[in-house]
Amino acid sequence: MDQCPTCRAPYRERNVCYRCQTDWREVLGVERAAVRYRQQALVALQSRRFHTAYDYARRACKLHRCSESIMVLALASLGLRKFDDALALWKEYRERVGVKSCNATSVLLLTFTE
Ligand SMILES: [Zn+2]
Repeated sequence: MDQCPTCRAPYRERNVCYRCQTDWREVLGVERAAVRYRQQALVALQSRRFHTAYDYARRACKLHRCSESIMVLALASLGLRKFDDALALWKEYRERVGVKSCNATSVLLLTFTE
């Protein structure tokens, strides 16, 4: 979490937003759950269990749609040969991180989908 989901104040390592008093503990708990799902998706990807990876990556994105989870979902989509989905996710990833930050994984995705 970079900022408060309620008032967009910069995140500081506290339990409550200094500006609007939103309790951040639940938000942080949801983000941690998303990270766990993403990690499970990566483990599944490494053993080519693409359906499992896709399910976990989707759960991660539903909880917290961050660039890392989007990329994992794109890779799982690629594994399932859902090329249109993979391309759309890769474009979303690229918009979030910027073209300069795109790594070899993005090039790989582009090669397969365009
Ligand atoms: Zn706030």
